[in-house]
Parts: sequence; structure tokens; C-alpha cells
Amino acid sequence: MDFRIGNGYDIHRLEEGRKLILGGVLIPHEKGFVAHSDGDALIHAIIDALLGALALGDIGTHFPDNDEKYKNIDSSILLKNVINLINNHNYEIVNIDTNIIAQKPKLAPYISKIVENLALLTNLNKNQISVKAKTNEKMDAVGECKAITTNCVVLLKKIKY
Ligand code: MG
Repeated sequence: MDFRIGNGYDIHRLEEGRKLILGGVLIPHEKGFVAHSDGDALIHAIIDALLGALALGDIGTHFPDNDEKYKNIDSSILLKNVINLINNHNYEIVNIDTNIIAQKPKLAPYISKIVENLALLTNLNKNQISVKAKTNEKMDAVGECKAITTNCVVLLKKIKY
């Protein structure tokens, strides 16, 4: 098979006094993610999409959240590990398309910085990475600013030698 598609989803609770990190970018906000790792829900969705594309399990099987090794870990490191795994299976990323659903803060000012950082982490061009942000129309936990959700679709193609 030359092409594989994967999708990923994540949700993290928000609490006051925590850091809000999305795509490796620290975003100023009064609330941040409650998580075992740094809580970067965008990178977590990308990781699950990458693993899903090759049917390699999920983020929890590769990086268990009860393992002290991963406490407060920078999710960028986990993403790099997973990209190495994908490459070792002879696949590379064609493109990544993501959504961040957050009632607050307004993410528009940070999108280009997030795309740039993800391009650096993944070794892709910026035009291969899409990050879109929307609110939840004030509905449910996301709309009430209690959580942020993310989702991601990736396309992989076989590396030709
Ligand atoms: Mg997560």
C-alpha cells in the first residue's frame, strides 16, 4: 500500500494556573491543561493520527500516562519519536490537517507560529500543515471553557528508494 490515512482526537481539561501549550507553542491564558505530560492536545491528536495510519496502536500504548518517565514531558519529544517510528516503517508524511476547538483564548494570533513550530518538528514545509481553530458556540464543556478538544487527519506515503 502506497498511501495510508490516519485520524486522531484529543481532549484535555483546563484549570487555572496551568500552562496552555498547543503545537509546542506556549499560549498566554489564565487556564491551561491538566495532564500527565505537558498536555499539548494538538500534538497528541497528531501523534494518534500518525500511529493510526499505520495501525500501530495509540499514544497511550506507546507512552503510558502512569509511567513516571513521561511526567511533564515535552510532547514535541514524543512527536519526534513517533515520526522516527513512521520513517522506520518506510512511510513519510504527505500532509497534516488539524482542528483546535477552544472557546477561549482566541487562537488566530498564534496559528502561524504553531504551523511554523510543527513544520520544524516534523521537517515538513508549512504548506503541508494546516491548523484551524474554532469555538464550540458556547456549548458543552468546551464552550464553557472547561476543556479544549483537537482532531487531526494525516496522509502518509511509502518512501520510494
Ligand atoms: Mg492528550
